Amino acid sequence: MKVAGITVEVERKEIKHTHLAVYPPDARVHVSAPKGLDERDIRSYVASKLGWIREQRRAILAQPRQGRREYVSGESIYAMGRRYRLAVAEIGASEGLERAGGLAARGKAQDNRGEGVGVCGTRLTLHVRGGATRERRERIVEAWQRGLLAECIAGKLRGWCETLGRELPVVEIRKMKTKWASCIRTKGKIAFNAALARVPPRCVEYVVVHELTHFEVANHSKAFVKLMDERLPRWRALRDELNGFVGMPIEEKP
Ligand SMILES: [Zn+2]
Repeated sequence: MKVAGITVEVERKEIKHTHLAVYPPDARVHVSAPKGLDERDIRSYVASKLGWIREQRRAILAQPRQGRREYVSGESIYAMGRRYRLAVAEIGASEGLERAGGLAARGKAQDNRGEGVGVCGTRLTLHVRGGATRERRERIVEAWQRGLLAECIAGKLRGWCETLGRELPVVEIRKMKTKWASCIRTKGKIAFNAALARVPPRCVEYVVVHELTHFEVANHSKAFVKLMDERLPRWRALRDELNGFVGMPIEEKP
């Protein structure tokens, strides 16, 4: 449907509440609506959110497009909100051969020794065997990023669970398409988007507090907002900062 000149995708789902999101990179507007909801109601709902939609569209369209990363020297890599300059250092050919010989003797198929990431200031050195594919280089860098994220999440959770007097949840980090995190209350589990590895720890903390608060209040009602205000008074600024990162949808949530 079109509302005030903006094309809006409408998806019917088995849900209770209408949900609105604006997705990068082209700022498409998507509405998930309950199956039985009248089209006029969807239209008036979208119309009531026009100010918010325009603002999100402006923000997304103003972001620089991020091309596919190749993991070659000179590229920028983000980790915990810091920018690193990548330098690829190939592990020498003779070294590789020597190693291959040693391995063959032990009957191992693959050798990862010597591969990994080294940090010196803002320089990120990726040590890989010569001729490693883009996917392999990506895997090594992502494993390093994910390790930093896991450490950050664990630290924030430890502090907040102590403050709130609750047990540590089970943590999962995986690639997610439309959310920064989600929680399964009944299992005491929180899944975090691996993409959080790029953002500053203060934004990770916002996600941690948001998800922990969902253990008490499932939705984004006034009660939820009240708890967030008490726990992390600057959460709105952190949320906006988080949603400013490229490649993630901006959902209409508190
Ligand atoms: Zn939420």
